Amino acid sequence: MKVLVINCGSSSLKYQLLDMANTSVLAQGLVERIAITGSQLTHKYGNAKIVINQELANHAEAIKLVLGTLTGPQYGVIANLQEIGAVGHRVVHGGEKFAASVLIDAVVMQAIRACVELAPLHNPPNITGIEACQQLMPAVPQVAVFDTAFHQTMPPKAYMYGLPYALYERYKVRKYGFHGTSHKYVSNQAAAMLGKPLAQTKLITCHLGNGSSVSAVLGGKSIENSMGFTPLEGLLMGTRSGDLDPAVVTFIMDKEKLSADEVNDYLNKKSGVLGVSGVSSDFRDIEQAAANGNARAHLALEMFAYDVKKYIGAYAAVLNGVDAIVFTAGLGENSGAMRQAIVDGLDYLGVAIDQAKNNVRGQQVDISQPDASCRVLVIPTNEELMIAQDTATIVGNL
Ligand code: ADP
Repeated sequence: MKVLVINCGSSSLKYQLLDMANTSVLAQGLVERIAITGSQLTHKYGNAKIVINQELANHAEAIKLVLGTLTGPQYGVIANLQEIGAVGHRVVHGGEKFAASVLIDAVVMQAIRACVELAPLHNPPNITGIEACQQLMPAVPQVAVFDTAFHQTMPPKAYMYGLPYALYERYKVRKYGFHGTSHKYVSNQAAAMLGKPLAQTKLITCHLGNGSSVSAVLGGKSIENSMGFTPLEGLLMGTRSGDLDPAVVTFIMDKEKLSADEVNDYLNKKSGVLGVSGVSSDFRDIEQAAANGNARAHLALEMFAYDVKKYIGAYAAVLNGVDAIVFTAGLGENSGAMRQAIVDGLDYLGVAIDQAKNNVRGQQVDISQPDASCRVLVIPTNEELMIAQDTATIVGNL
């Protein structure tokens, strides 16, 4: 079966077409600036890459262009849309309704819509992507894969906030956790690398990218994630503040005369390492600036590494020991300097990394010294493969 994986952001759309017979990627790409002037599709197939510049007024037009490109005579990899057996959609928030991926029908769509108020920035574009595919491929089954699903195994003592219980009952205010597809994927890979059954592993998985989160995974089940009610909680991120004293929010609203929407924007888009460094939200730029002597860039990097280290310490306590710490996503996979800074001083956990191995980029590798009792693993994430596998399984069972 060939599965199309769709990941719709507010103005972007990532896609991958996989042949599940051998899990090979037939084509993949990115549409940027949807509904903004200068829309662009970057499409990769085989070893080739092409860029198509075409104005796209909405996600339906973007998906139409993607499907046309996948089946087109010039850059196509399939003869027609009938070759696509199923579509798997990344959906950010599944609330408490979804602890696993699900075939999309009218009832599921209703439940995904009900989660919009929990993820107003993320779920609407996900819904738009599903609707566009339903319109363009009405006969093809669609599956939703949720970022929150993997974390539904968190116990109440981990996911409840110290707020009046009525807020949970009325609005489902609780911790959900995100990046679940990635944490699940790297946990499975880590167990294989450790040569242990997943059910016997204690893992701390660090997904460090533009958005970052750390999870405690016990026996293959998430029992903690640093993100919360929204993806704003937890680590300092590219542009997100992460953990704060909640009193700071009302204080800056008062001082800076900010509305609820404005303060939300402030904490989500103007904070994090961008806000601290004043340089960029991209860790490459910040590492460069720090190397050039920029003190605030250096501080932002120190704060980030310190934050991750604190979560590792907390989750080691929760797990009562750690078999491996896993690094994944853009920063975790690529920045040896950041990995080094994070694990520095974790020798009490049995961590000891090999400097030469830590220089490796973007490869699945154990960077520990041979006798280290807590392994440190770098595992490139593959959320698309997880989405495609769930989709193929669900549709294969129909
Ligand atoms: P997203 O959360 O958007 O999926 P990614 O996982 O692709 O993000 O991570 C993107 C981030 O990874 C970039 O913003 C950058 O900060 C960081 N990154 C990527 N490559 C490197 C590198 N070689 N060195 C340091 N940071 C990197």
